[in-house]
Amino acid sequence: IDHEFNRLREKLPLWLQENRRFCRDGKVASYIPELSKASGNHLGIHIIDASGRSLSAGDCGVAFTMQSISKVFTLLLALMDRGEEAVFDKVGMEPTGDQFNSMLKLELVQPSIPFNPMINAGAIVISSLINGSGPAEKSERTLQFFRLLAGNNKLDFDNDVYRTESASADLNRSMAYFLKDKGVLACPVDEVLEVYFKHCSINATCSDLARMALVLASGGRDPVTGAALIPRRYVQIAKTFMITCGMYNASGQFAIQVGLPAKSGVAGGILTLVPGKYGIGVFGPALNPKGNSSAGVRLLETLSKEMNWSLF
Ligand code: GLN
Repeated sequence: IDHEFNRLREKLPLWLQENRRFCRDGKVASYIPELSKASGNHLGIHIIDASGRSLSAGDCGVAFTMQSISKVFTLLLALMDRGEEAVFDKVGMEPTGDQFNSMLKLELVQPSIPFNPMINAGAIVISSLINGSGPAEKSERTLQFFRLLAGNNKLDFDNDVYRTESASADLNRSMAYFLKDKGVLACPVDEVLEVYFKHCSINATCSDLARMALVLASGGRDPVTGAALIPRRYVQIAKTFMITCGMYNASGQFAIQVGLPAKSGVAGGILTLVPGKYGIGVFGPALNPKGNSSAGVRLLETLSKEMNWSLF
């Protein structure tokens, strides 16, 4: 392990530098207006090992919104609040092979529950399952849970991203109305969407992602204090979804090229982990056509191949 960590320390800056050129292959997301302000040239990575040692390279000081990465953790919170049976009553376990915001398969099965909790429709349903008297309490509980996992009390919402997304989210809104009509959503559409857009807008850095990932890599335990934060079974469920659906409709390709559980977001973040060993946060806002960080994915390919990290 020490040998591995030393090799990482020595090579990480070089591997980051080599993969920077792939930023040019991507485009910064603009359908959420605020996101278009990000610099497409940024690429950063932060890695924490199980003993708390960390390494970083590139533009890892830049904060960005978690977006779809947050879906992994709202799923975990909903599982802890409601249990496995209640959650999978409302959302399925299968990848779609479609884009994250597709409505194509919503009418395909009866009852009309979303295929999985990593696509927008599924994550919107998950938002409705988080305990709390109303959207404000649900959002606050979500934020506190994220802070606990990141070991960072400063984690907070980015209100500009929240507002501009909420003001331009006709597609997500129509999905929510559809689900409401089918009886899948128990609360009012506006309330569910408030919780959903809010958790997508939580600001983090690569080191926050790495720390949250390390909890998953450690089977739900805080690697530093040893405290059990999430039941092992739920971590297992979350990591399985990360493998099968975490990188949208490029999850199969990512499993072949990298072979680690991962979740990406449209602001350019990728959260991934090496079980038992490392939590990893990557940031590169230029996205490839499937919506994943173009240079970020390439950097993880390099790391996985060089370090022999693939689980398969
Ligand atoms: N908030 C974003 C949306 O609903 C999250 C999508 C993503 O990161 N892929 O479109």
